Amino acid sequence: PILESLTAAVKSAFFLTGTAMRASQFFIATLKEAPSDAEVISHKLMMRAGLIRRLAGGIYTWTPLGLRVLRKVENIVREEMNRAGALELLMPAVQPFELWEESGRGPKYGPELLRFKDRHQRDFVIGPTHEEVITDFVRKEVRSYRQLPRHFYQIQTKFRDEIRPRFGVMRGREFLMKDGYSFHVNYADLEREYQNMYQTYGRIFSRLGLSFRAVAADTGAIGGTGSHEFHVIAATGEDAIAYCPDSAYAANVELAEALAPAAPRGAAVEPMEKKETPGKIKCEDVAEFLGTALTRTVKAIAVIRTELAEDAPGRFVLLLLRGDHDLNEIKAQKVIGEFRFARDEEVEAALGCRPGYIGPVGRNNIFVVADRTAAAMDNFVCGANEAGYHLTGVNWGRDLLEPAQTADIRNVVEGDPSPDGQGQLALCRGIEVGHIFQLRTQYAKALNCKFLDEQGKEQVMEMGCYGIGVSRIVGAAIEQGHDERGIIFPATIAPFQVAIVPMGYAKSEAVREAADTLLAELLAAGIDAILDDRDERAGSMFADWELVGVPHRIVVGERGLKEGKLEYKGRGDAEAQMLAREDILAFIQ
Ligand code: ATP
Ligand code: MG
Ligand code: MG
Ligand code: MG
Repeated sequence: PILESLTAAVKSAFFLTGTAMRASQFFIATLKEAPSDAEVISHKLMMRAGLIRRLAGGIYTWTPLGLRVLRKVENIVREEMNRAGALELLMPAVQPFELWEESGRGPKYGPELLRFKDRHQRDFVIGPTHEEVITDFVRKEVRSYRQLPRHFYQIQTKFRDEIRPRFGVMRGREFLMKDGYSFHVNYADLEREYQNMYQTYGRIFSRLGLSFRAVAADTGAIGGTGSHEFHVIAATGEDAIAYCPDSAYAANVELAEALAPAAPRGAAVEPMEKKETPGKIKCEDVAEFLGTALTRTVKAIAVIRTELAEDAPGRFVLLLLRGDHDLNEIKAQKVIGEFRFARDEEVEAALGCRPGYIGPVGRNNIFVVADRTAAAMDNFVCGANEAGYHLTGVNWGRDLLEPAQTADIRNVVEGDPSPDGQGQLALCRGIEVGHIFQLRTQYAKALNCKFLDEQGKEQVMEMGCYGIGVSRIVGAAIEQGHDERGIIFPATIAPFQVAIVPMGYAKSEAVREAADTLLAELLAAGIDAILDDRDERAGSMFADWELVGVPHRIVVGERGLKEGKLEYKGRGDAEAQMLAREDILAFIQ
């Protein structure tokens, strides 16, 4: 009777789950070959495993299989955000451009911001981020210090018209982000929440099974002061990270450079007279000037020329040119201007376009100027002084360079002393999967987001914001976990935890019965299992589950059943092993 009631329970669990967890009814769409536009392994494997399908550049459909992975990532993020005390809400993807004018960010954000007009000719954008919308929400809802602090977050689709969408979902145009925003009565409370988020992010990435590093970061276009990025360490990462193995120091190279003593960003402005085109500048000349060979120079780099100003040691003049380039010769087509420590506005006035960034980004006064308003690559300008540090792909530049070329471009070298005086720098590459910012009062001020303090006095709120690239994480996890047979997902985010592969499902009643019962049992135990009832060649079924990255595989065969055994193989195991039928559940859990 016990056995009977157990069988009944198992059957009802099976009834509840229906047929969805059978491969014949599911959607398995593996490919032998990856499409030719897939450059990195995660993109190739996501396509081959059938997790995503491309609709347009940087825009993908998540298949039922891929969505299972995405949702698992999302749920871990959600659970930890809730545990940390943040409140989930959902904001619209479409935002009125007016808000962006109010915050002052509209004109600055550049062409990554997708704008459109509605039928009444009103301007809208598809949200690349939601500081404006949340601040508008809070300024209308929160009046008193009693309602603070509050941290709201959402997991929502963003759109950024990336200049070079690539690497599949890792640099998509449409992507899923967790974005949280916190509001405080004072800076001390913002700092508390920032620490809380720093810890929470550590927990999230640990639970996701990723090897990651938190690094000090620049605040970029969002603005504000304190900021950390969380990077998944991977050779294909687009960011360079400088860290000190002997201390806790770790920074995005952008910042490692910026922190070093150099003239402050946007210091003294002295635009100089415009010069005529100097004609062609030979690569050797540039090489001599930079003290390094230009073999790594790529076509995306316009012409650079820096000179140390005699009267001001440590300063130099940056000559901005626009051109058309190949590896042997740089043809300077137009001298755009010559500056000494120009500010953004001056560059804008001179260039007629907005520089993405201008400023010393290193102790060696390396300048990076990237025009993010131009779609063309030829507005990318990089500079370095004669100390020998050469062109760099950091910051916006890296969006324009090929991965193979950025891979060895650096302006900090291994063994440099580091900024905290604790040892020597080491370098690695990372994929930015999270970013936390202390925004302070920048948005609250611009959007007039105030509260009444205990004395009844009006005060501007302090704000923090916290992003996680939910869809990017799926790609990043695969960059870290794969072998020649396919994906090796961390168990916490694999689309299924167990694949049951019966040998002769249609032919053998014993096999069918055993496989069905095992599926029902696993599902009843809350284990995500799928039964491969496709009755294909064993080799091709095995290959599919290895490609997809399912952590556990159980083969049900007549011979094993006779001895009461099942064959088990973990995704990372070299060999399969026979396990007693009754031990299987405990073994997997
Ligand atoms: P990146 O430097 O890679 O362009 P970002 O600094 O512009 O990223 P944030 O504004 O900090 O991005 O957004 C928060 C998070 O959203 C990032 O840490 C990243 O994980 C994710 N993200 C940003 N852009 C993309 C994208 N194009 N595709 C997928 N995820 C993205
Ligand atoms: Mg970006
Ligand atoms: Mg970034
Ligand atoms: Mg960022």
